[in-house]
Amino acid sequence: MSFKKLGLSSELLRAITETGYTEPTPIQQQAIPVILQGRDLMAAAQTGTGKTAGFTLPMLHILMLSGKDMSAGDHCPVRALVLTPTRELAAQVHESVLTYGKHLPLKSMVAFGGVKIGPQMAKLRKGVDIVIATPGRLLDLIQQKALDLSLVEILVLDEADRMLDMGFINDIRKI
Ligand code: AMP
Repeated sequence: MSFKKLGLSSELLRAITETGYTEPTPIQQQAIPVILQGRDLMAAAQTGTGKTAGFTLPMLHILMLSGKDMSAGDHCPVRALVLTPTRELAAQVHESVLTYGKHLPLKSMVAFGGVKIGPQMAKLRKGVDIVIATPGRLLDLIQQKALDLSLVEILVLDEADRMLDMGFINDIRKI
C-alpha cells in the first residue's frame, strides 16, 4: 500500500516524501480512506503508530478541496478544530499540521491556557483555517467572542479517552 493509492493530493504526497515516510502505517491505511469519504470515525491505536498523521493528512486534503472556491481576499473562517487534553499534545499536533501542510496555503494556530490570550485573539482576527486547542482555552476564546465555530467542517477529539479521564466532558459538550 502506498500513500499515493490513498488518493492524497500531490502537495501532501510531496510533504510525506520529504518527511521520509515510505508507506502508511496500519492505522493510516484504515483511517484515511474513511475520513476522505467524509464519514465519522472513532479510531484507537497505541502511541507511536502514526495516529496524528492518520487524521491530519485527510483533514488537510478535505480542507483544500472544500476551500478551492474561496478567494484569497475572503476572511478565512475556522474550518477545522482539533481538541487535545494537554498543551504538549496541542503543540505536537500543530507541528504535524505545519509539516504535512507545508506546501498548502492553509493557516493554522495552536491555543492553550497558561499563556496570554491576547496574541491568540489577534491571530484569530487575521483568519485561521485550523485551530488546535485545549478545551478550557477554547471556551475562553469563544466567551470573548474571538472565535466563531459555525463554519467548522471537521472536528477531531485527539486522545478523547484521556480528555474524558481529565474531566473535560462538560467543556467538550459546551464546545
Ligand atoms: P503518532 O502515533 O502520531 O504520535 O506518530 C508516531 C511517530 O511515527 C511520529 O514520530 C511520526 O513522525 C511517525 N510516523 C507517522 N506516520 C508514519 C509513516 N507512515 N511512516 C513512518 N513513520 C511515521
